[in-house]
Amino acid sequence: MPTAVATRSAESDRLVAPAFDVVDRPDREGILDCVHCGLCLPSCPTYLTTGLEMASPRGRIHLMRAVDEGQAGISADFVKHLDQCLGCLACQTACPSGVPYAHLLEGARAQIERRYERPAGDRRWRRVILSLFPHPDRLRWLLGALSWYHRLGLSGIVRNTGLLALLSPRLAQMEALLPEAPSATARRPLPEVTPAVGQRLGRVGFLTGCVQRFVLPDLNRATARVLAAAGYEVVAPPGQGCCGALHLHSGDLEAGRALARRTIQAFERAQVDLVAVNAAGCGAAMKEYAHLLRDDAEWRSRAEAFSSRTRDVSQILAGVSWRQELKPVPMTVTYHEACHLGSEAGGPS
Ligand code: SF4
Ligand code: SF4
Repeated sequence: MPTAVATRSAESDRLVAPAFDVVDRPDREGILDCVHCGLCLPSCPTYLTTGLEMASPRGRIHLMRAVDEGQAGISADFVKHLDQCLGCLACQTACPSGVPYAHLLEGARAQIERRYERPAGDRRWRRVILSLFPHPDRLRWLLGALSWYHRLGLSGIVRNTGLLALLSPRLAQMEALLPEAPSATARRPLPEVTPAVGQRLGRVGFLTGCVQRFVLPDLNRATARVLAAAGYEVVAPPGQGCCGALHLHSGDLEAGRALARRTIQAFERAQVDLVAVNAAGCGAAMKEYAHLLRDDAEWRSRAEAFSSRTRDVSQILAGVSWRQELKPVPMTVTYHEACHLGSEAGGPS
C-alpha cells in the first residue's frame, strides 16, 4: 500500500503521489546523463510501435526527471508509460552517454510500487502473480491441476464456449497462453549433482528457476547434460527458489532483496566456481545483485562475488574447448537472442 499522501489530480481525477521520496530513488545523476539526443529511439520497441515520445526511453527519462524535480507527481499516465516499458534495455546498449536506464527504471518502478495506488483489479492480479510464480511448491500444485485440466478436455470447453472471456477477458487471455503441462515424470527434480564427463573443468551451480523447472523441465535437463559433457560438474543446490527477478522487474525491491540473499546463500553453500543460468531475465537480475545490495554492509561483498560468478549457459559454453569430437546435428534451428542477454545488463560479466 502507498505510504505517501496521495491527492486527486484536478484534470484526470486519478490518484497522484507526490515527487520521488528518498527510498530507492532513481539516481538523479543518471537522469541528468540523458542529453536527449534520441539515438536510443530506433532501438526501442514501444516507441517504434506507438510513435509516442512518452513511450520512448527519452520520454520516460523526461517523465522521471519531472517527478524527481517535483514538477509532476506519480500519476496514472506516468505509471502507464513506465508499465509499458518492456525492460529490454536495448536503449541502454544504444545510448552513447552511458545512461543507466536499467537502474533508473528499477528505481521508478520501486517508487510506483510503494507510493502509487493502482486500481483494485490491477492490485489483485499483481498479488496473484507474485504469490504464485515465485513459489515452486504452489506452482507444482498448479501444474498438477493444469495437467488434469488439459487431459479432461476442459480447456477446449472453456475456449469454445467463450464463457471465461465474458467473466474476465484478462483471465481468458491468460488461459489462451497456458502451456501444456509436462508430465509428472518430466517434472521430477534434477539430481543434486550431475558428474562431469571426462576431465573436470570446474563445479557449476545451476539455477533451476521457479517457473522453468516445471514448465520447461526438458530444457533444464538438456542444460545440465551439455554442461556435464563440456566437463563441468553440475550442482543444483537445494534451497534455491526464485531469484527475485519478477519482484525486481515489478518494483518490489524489498522482496527481491530477500530472494537475492536466499539465492546467494544457497549457491555459497554449494561452493561452486560459476553460477549458470539458462533464463536470460533471471541471469540479468542475478548479475545485478551487487547493485541491488550495494547499501547492505553484510551482503554487499557476497553479492559482488555472486554476480561476478554468474554466467548465462551460452557464455560458459562459448569458452569451452571441446575435447571430444562434436558431431553435426542435421537440423535447422532458430536462435532466440533474448533481450536481457543481448543488452549490457545480461551480457558478459
Ligand atoms: S537515453 Fe541516451 S541515447 Fe537516449 S536520448 Fe538519452 S542520452 Fe540519448
Ligand atoms: S527498456 Fe526497451 S522498451 Fe523500455 S525504453 Fe528501453 S528500449 Fe524501450
